[in-house]
Order: sequence, then C-alpha cells, then structure tokens
Amino acid sequence: MLGTRAVELAQALIQVPTVGENEAAAAELCAEALVRAGWEVERLPFADGRTQLIARADDAPPERCLTGHLDTVPADGEWSHDPFAGVIADGCLWGRGAADMKGGVGAILAAAESLTLDLRRPRTCIVLTAAEETGAEGAADIAGHDLLQGVREWVVAEPTDNRILVGHRGALWLRLRAHGRAGHASAPPSDGGAIGALRCALDRLEEAASKLTTGPGLAASTVAITGLEAGSAPNVLPDEATAVVDARYPTNDGRDRLQRWITDAVGAEISIERIRAMPAVSASPTCALAVEASSLLGSGVEERHATYFTDLSELAQSGTATVILGPGDVRQAHGVDEHCSVEAIAEAARVYRGLLLR
Ligand SMILES: [Zn+2]
Repeated sequence: MLGTRAVELAQALIQVPTVGENEAAAAELCAEALVRAGWEVERLPFADGRTQLIARADDAPPERCLTGHLDTVPADGEWSHDPFAGVIADGCLWGRGAADMKGGVGAILAAAESLTLDLRRPRTCIVLTAAEETGAEGAADIAGHDLLQGVREWVVAEPTDNRILVGHRGALWLRLRAHGRAGHASAPPSDGGAIGALRCALDRLEEAASKLTTGPGLAASTVAITGLEAGSAPNVLPDEATAVVDARYPTNDGRDRLQRWITDAVGAEISIERIRAMPAVSASPTCALAVEASSLLGSGVEERHATYFTDLSELAQSGTATVILGPGDVRQAHGVDEHCSVEAIAEAARVYRGLLLR
C-alpha cells in the first residue's frame, strides 16, 4: 500500500516535466497531497513558475528534515519509453527523474501522507526545492528561512541504491578565459590567438587531471571540462575564448587548494572566474540519524561519500547530521532511459516513514 502509493506519486511527478522550470506545478501536486494529510505547508516562490515548499508535521520549529528536489535535467536522446509518461515496465518506473529524484520525492510524500498527526514524529519537516540541478540555487534561496534554522538532522533522497551515505563531495564551477587579438581570419596569428591559448591550456589541464589522484591532499578530486565557447563569425578571429570546468573535491579545505592547482595547471595567461561553489558535506557514520536509518533499513552505513553534490551543500550547516539515502542508481541519473526499481521506491518509503514516525 505505502509502496504502491509512493510509485503512483513518483509517476505523477514524472508526468509533470520540470526541466529547469515549472517546479510550481510539481510543488502544487506535492502540496495538495501533504495538505490533505494534515501537514502545514508553506509555498515559497523561487522564480516565475518555480515554487519550493516547506511542510511541517506540527507547529514546533523543525529539527529533522527530509528533502528532495523537484527539477530535472533535460531528456535528450532516443528513449525506449516517453521520458515524461512515467511508464511502469519490467519492475521499474521509467522516465526523466525516476532515479534523480522523483522516485525519492514520491517515497517521501507517501511516507508523510501515511502518518496522521498522532503518529508523526514532532519537529519534523519536508523541504522540496527547485533549481537543484543548476547548482542548488533553490536550496541556497530557502536555506536562510526561519523555519529551517533549528534543523540538525538532514536526509536527502538522492539516488544511492538505498544505501546510507553520510556525506558528499563539493563542486566548484570555474570559467577559464583566454585572450588574443581580434582580427581577420585571412591573417591568423602564429600563436593561434585566444582559441590557441585556450586549447593549449586545456591540454595541460587534462594531462595534469589524469594524475590528480596522486596529488598531495587532492585524492578523490576530479576535473572535467564541461563547456567551450569562442567566435562569432567564420571569418573573424575572436579576442576571447572561454571554457567551463567542473571540479569536485572531497573536503572543503581542499577547495581553494584545488582551484590553485587548476590555476597552476592552465598557466598564468588564463584568467579564472569562480561561477559557483557547492560545499562538501560530511557527518559521522555513527551519528544518531545514520544509526536510526541503518536499523530501519537493516544494513550498515557506508564509509564512502557520494561523488555528486546535493542540496545539503546549501541546507546543512557544519555540525549537523546528514544522510544521503534514496532509491535508484546514480548511474541512471541524467542518462537516456532513466529508470528506478519500484521495489526500491517502496523500500525507501518504508525507511522514510520510520524516520518521520513518532
Ligand atoms: Zn538529484
């Protein structure tokens, strides 16, 4: 019953496309379910058509929060099932967000819905955000809300295959900029101009990044080039070429060190601008929250941290307990034919119910 309802809600959420917009429609669906079940829901506008929400179990300031994001990445490529139909086949729910993370949000909602006021653990809340995929922007917007200042225990339903992790890496988004003389393409400069300078810098960065795991204090860091831009006309040499780099680091004291390492790797002629930084998150595997989740799940807390960032970068302050636990395989996230086992969604709903139970 709980599991069926969780899958039904996840399916309904997939049927509301929220590719970097329109979270308001999904938030409304969630709000209606939570209000019907007697939760105190506050809708918070983030941007036009993009609503976030906080739902409280009771009047008291929340101390424990279950959270998920409502947006998804686009559904490019050829899919076996319509990515916004929420097809159930072969024991799985298919569609954009099935794993990341409408499966997890459906499980949270079903768990919350199943608990009447007398059964709900006091001081719990549910936070559903917009704009996570573009750098936890929605979470950054909601993090300062009065209602969240007393939260000391955070559970985010990102896909971990229902394993319990207590932390994740941080991410740094940088824009690299190379300069050169603008001019006529019929008289190219011998140094390749802005594009040539950027290309050489990126070659040096990739070469260095392939050995990054051996660098002092930078183990488990990664660097990926995720954007390139230059030129406005076929016959004009641009005066500028830019690249975007996504760098990930395991602990926050590694963040500035990693940026310095990138600066050294690309060379002094490349200017670097920090677009955004999402802090790493880490809690003790023996914290009460992880231990409780572990006993509900019937399996241990994993030593490793998630490789991706989550809204907890913005929501969870240092010293708070953090658990990342959700249905679905992270390798499904952002890919073609994203899907999530319906059994896993049901299992997550059972654990979330336990965490919300008095
Ligand atoms: Zn996600």
